[in-house]
Amino acid sequence: MRIDRPTAVLAILLAGVVSLHAHGRYRTPVRIPDIPGYLTLKCDFHMHTVFSDGKVWPDVRAEEAWREGLDAIAITDHIEYQPHKADLPTNHNRSYEIAKPAGDTLQVIVIRGSEITRSMPPGHLNAIFLKDASKLETKNWRDAVKAAQDQGAFIFWNHPGWTGQQPDGVARWYDEHTELLQQGALKGIEVVNTRSYYPEAHRWCLEKKLTMLSNSDIHAPLNLDFDVHEGDHRPITLVFARERTAEGVREALFNRRTAVYSGEMLVGEERFLRPIFERSLVLIPPTGRIKGKGRVYAQLRNESEVPITLKAAGKVNGVTFPGELTVPGLKTVLFEIRGTGTMREGERTFRLPYEVTNWLVEPEKGLRVELPVAVRFANP
Ligand SMILES: [Zn+2]
Ligand SMILES: [Zn+2]
Repeated sequence: MRIDRPTAVLAILLAGVVSLHAHGRYRTPVRIPDIPGYLTLKCDFHMHTVFSDGKVWPDVRAEEAWREGLDAIAITDHIEYQPHKADLPTNHNRSYEIAKPAGDTLQVIVIRGSEITRSMPPGHLNAIFLKDASKLETKNWRDAVKAAQDQGAFIFWNHPGWTGQQPDGVARWYDEHTELLQQGALKGIEVVNTRSYYPEAHRWCLEKKLTMLSNSDIHAPLNLDFDVHEGDHRPITLVFARERTAEGVREALFNRRTAVYSGEMLVGEERFLRPIFERSLVLIPPTGRIKGKGRVYAQLRNESEVPITLKAAGKVNGVTFPGELTVPGLKTVLFEIRGTGTMREGERTFRLPYEVTNWLVEPEKGLRVELPVAVRFANP
């Protein structure tokens, strides 16, 4: 093809425009390690679009998720609340249908969902992995739950302490939730919604063997609510999956293999938090020897992006060590070890006891760890 001069000039100009627009379109990975046997997928199972009371077109949700390093999202527009229905016809499947191809292009898994939006009790429930969301439009909430359950959906309770329904912000368990649990419909609870952590929900997940979720519930464009360019992030459900597919996510959710990542906090069962910790914190042993009450420096390197806030949980004979210390995400800090003047010459390995206060295995109870460190002592 012959290219004339004006076309060539135009092409160069257009290339400039395209590259200008392409600038900043990049994906930032969420740096949390996999655990033995499972991939750690980063997911958000609660968000809205213009097809309910959201402010964005559905495919934008896939783009935001791709940029923020997510593996999977569920689009969960309200069934019962559509303030834009004078402009957009009611079609409960449409937001998913628009978001899905965008997700396919970007390799972000998009899951069909809906928010069953009722007064408390039972409050708001999300049903994801639906086949036909329109079947959830029913008069009675029990019929909506049944329609979701009949489709094999994963159903969870949203924001149980939401001040719109619980003005004091305290989540309460009602007979209706017992009913849903006993009939096998209720499988999980949002322990975190937006920036709220619900300790009651955390406790219920442990006691009643429910799946923990952490979701954004975004309505506006993501970066209006979360300063993602300043290191902020939306709440994320960590899903420990056998494979990075929709089926992999579904299987892990039904089998309770999740943890919560919100702000600077991780919440989850010890069986998940401990292997993440072991693959995140690296202790670089000190060089040199302690003489008398002298000191040496180890270093702690955090290979995950989640800060590790350590609080001493005991003492050992022979050395003292920091009472409190935070290792920021992806950073290394110095770790001072002092002699107590009681050790003889030679090398000793200590197991220094700590609690990770921002990695919660129960409400207000951090993960207990021991940092093994070899220290050499000189003859005093
Ligand atoms: Zn809701
Ligand atoms: Zn919602």
